Amino acid sequence: MRQTRIQRIMKVGESAWLWRDSKTGIAVIRDGATGLGHSCHANISTTGSVRGMKALGYWAKDSRCVRFGGFVYNIDTYVVSDAYDEVAGQNCMCPACIARRAKEAQSGVSACA
Ligand SMILES: [Zn+2]
Repeated sequence: MRQTRIQRIMKVGESAWLWRDSKTGIAVIRDGATGLGHSCHANISTTGSVRGMKALGYWAKDSRCVRFGGFVYNIDTYVVSDAYDEVAGQNCMCPACIARRAKEAQSGVSACA
């Protein structure tokens, strides 16, 4: 049997759950009430063009990207615009978030929303 990489971690709202990809560590909140996904990273649909985002200068050329549920997330960005983004960021285990939290712990300063 194929091992499931995508794990449902916890309930974070009336109809919202936090999911995490056990391989890449990326955490995403899916809100069933709005149909929206929330993460702390900039993302585009997998039907979009990562190459285009980089060519146009929206994403850095050396950005690291991971796929999750129909979207490509640029883990070298940190974009928090609501509470669910923030919770996703606190629970994201991608290499960029682990490094970000380590740096915050060292400086004693954390990102504010
Ligand atoms: Zn992350």
